Formats: sequence, C-alpha cells, structure tokens
Amino acid sequence: MKYTYRCNQSECACWNIEFEIEKFARDIDVKEVCKACLHTAERLFRPGRPQIMNAGDGWNDHTYNPAFGKVIGSKAQLRKEMAEAKARGNEMVEVGNEPLHKIHQHAEATQAHKHKEGWRKVSRDLGLPED
Ligand SMILES: [Zn+2]
Repeated sequence: MKYTYRCNQSECACWNIEFEIEKFARDIDVKEVCKACLHTAERLFRPGRPQIMNAGDGWNDHTYNPAFGKVIGSKAQLRKEMAEAKARGNEMVEVGNEPLHKIHQHAEATQAHKHKEGWRKVSRDLGLPED
C-alpha cells in the first residue's frame, strides 16, 4: 500500500512537501524519515485511501470477499455476513480453507480406498477369495 508522508520540520528544504512510501500494511507503524533532513516524517491520513484499518489482532488479514463484494475483516464478520445471507435465502458454505493436513489425509484415504477396491476387483475377476 502507498502511504503519504510529509516533513514537518519548518527549517527543512522539503518542509510541507508530501511524499509517498509504498510498503506492506503490516509495516504501517514503521517510522519513515524525510530524505533531506532525516527527521521522522508525519504520516498523513487521506480519506478514501485504504490507510486506516481496524486495530487489533489480525487486522492485516482483511481480504476482499467476492461472495459478498466487500472486505471481510474477521471470522466473526464472515459468520455474520453468512447468517445474513442465509436469512435472505442465500445460504453460503465456506470452502477451500481447510487445514492442509486434513486435505492430505482425505486424499490419502481416498487413494487407499481406490487401491483396495482395485485389488478386490482383480481378485473377483480371477475368481480368488477377496481379502
Ligand atoms: Zn525534512
């Protein structure tokens, strides 16, 4: 994200001149300095630009949710949006965010089942006892 800063040292050559710094949102509180005088620059808040977000845990995890057409900031907000959608008759199911180990467990179990079924079929075709 781009953040706007300004040098507020009146004796500095670049006093009151604004400049932009591009950095990660998680680094919003990292101080930036004026290139001319090396004093800490003042971060400016600009309405309409995504500079201010909710403080608190996970505030950098806000993601645009295409299902709702807006930024969802927390699990609680997501649950609330889903409940509201359900109340309107548009029930939604969250998918694709299972822990990776569960996805692997499911894939391995499915593969093992297919393998076993394959050998059962071979045994049946050859007239051998199954298992
Ligand atoms: Zn300066």
